[in-house]
Amino acid sequence: MNAAPADQIRLLDLQAIDSRLDQLAHRRRTLPEHAEIDKAAADHTALKDLVIAAQAQLGDTQREQTKAEQDVEQVRTRAARNQQRMDSGAVTSPKDLENLQHEIGSLAKRQADLEDVVLEVMERLESAETRVTELTARLEHSTVVLKEAEGRRDAQFAELDADAEKVKRDREAIAAVIPADLMKLYLRLREQQGGVGAARLYQRRCEGCRTEFSITEFNAIKAEPNDKVLRCENCGRILIRTGESGV
Ligand SMILES: [Zn+2]
Repeated sequence: MNAAPADQIRLLDLQAIDSRLDQLAHRRRTLPEHAEIDKAAADHTALKDLVIAAQAQLGDTQREQTKAEQDVEQVRTRAARNQQRMDSGAVTSPKDLENLQHEIGSLAKRQADLEDVVLEVMERLESAETRVTELTARLEHSTVVLKEAEGRRDAQFAELDADAEKVKRDREAIAAVIPADLMKLYLRLREQQGGVGAARLYQRRCEGCRTEFSITEFNAIKAEPNDKVLRCENCGRILIRTGESGV
């Protein structure tokens, strides 16, 4: 394959641009914010689950409290009714009076027990409320952390994408003047050779694979016509002679 030396040198410019674009894409993929966002999102999900569980626990305890208070109220009402009957003088039989007295005593005991239950439930209610408050605050904080990391990532994206857009415009201008067959070879090699399809010959070295050519090989390169498209014998990349190549 033959190509004008100027077009071959343009290929090096194109290579530099493509490497720059690869670099920008790599930075876009490997921003530290990606890991931060993953972690913040996982924390956020875990906290959301904890808040839901704590709220359910709180709801259960609130229902327990209502029930315990109703139990107390029931016993209290019954005791008051018995007391009223007692005070009214309507019950006259000594046996009935004794039973009534006995029941009033039992109800007082029962009421005291139930009031203890109410107190115990109230304590649990308080800690359930505290837990919901604490977890909700942590959830809100994790939302802020997540949003901040996303914001930083998006700012970096915007910067990198703007850079890439500019570089792509430069690329179009250069790519437009490179002969099609040379371009095709370059793109194929670039894909096969880790992003580098064209390399400069510099101080007897292929800058693609760093191989140093022997004097004999170098002399053979020197003897090649200027417009011949050379390939590195070691890596196969297009080897480009510039004013600094010493050939
Ligand atoms: Zn090479």
